[in-house]
Amino acid sequence: MTISNHLQIIGERIRQAEQQYDRAPHSVQLVAVSKHHPITAIEDAFAAGQTHFGENYAQEMAEKAQALTAHSITWHFIGPIQSNKTRQIAEIAHWVHSVDRLKIAQRLSAQKPAHKPPLNICLQVNISHEDSKSGVAPESVAELATQIVQLSGVKLRGLMAIPAPCSDFEQQRQTFAQLRQLQELLNQQGFGLDTLSMGMSDDMEAAIAEGATLVRIGTAIFGSRPY
Ligand SMILES: *Cc1c(COP(=O)(O)O)cnc(C)c1O
Repeated sequence: MTISNHLQIIGERIRQAEQQYDRAPHSVQLVAVSKHHPITAIEDAFAAGQTHFGENYAQEMAEKAQALTAHSITWHFIGPIQSNKTRQIAEIAHWVHSVDRLKIAQRLSAQKPAHKPPLNICLQVNISHEDSKSGVAPESVAELATQIVQLSGVKLRGLMAIPAPCSDFEQQRQTFAQLRQLQELLNQQGFGLDTLSMGMSDDMEAAIAEGATLVRIGTAIFGSRPY
């Protein structure tokens, strides 16, 4: 099976889940996670119509973006962010899903090139309360959001989570529901968020059922990652 075949299957899974869970048609956008996969894999996916790509490492994203300037790609940065990498990220990414502290948002805001529109950002929430995971604690999200909306170089669009792996559909849904409820709470406070970045290869349907607008899929498109 080719990348194009995989994309078609994922596209059908997304459309079917939208229908099954009363989501508006095309309300879920696929972000193809290409980390550790070669530039040729991105070219193949692009030729098949995929335009949104997700990367976890600033240097890798920069190299790929440099090689693919002829392609009109929307780059999503989804990995942990070290403060010495924010400039590279701000210069290339259109979206950053993994903001979890003010300092990072301030740097992204200041370092975004002046000629570009504000950088779309999501706050990564540690929804499963895992000690090892990055992400802001659910109870601290509102305070962080209040500070971030004052920055002019970034536009706060929504929330992102990477729940602890779990194979039970209902449990997956419950976890994603927490992120959706947190977004609803923020919107009651006037934040106007329109984005929920949640769902990967193994829990995409549950995420769509609970309102995902961006799903981040790697393995089901590109196969297992070559290390
Ligand atoms: C790698 C990665 C993905 C893609 O995961 P798959 O299981 O390969 O679909 C999605 N989101 C984040 C944050 C990732 O790091």
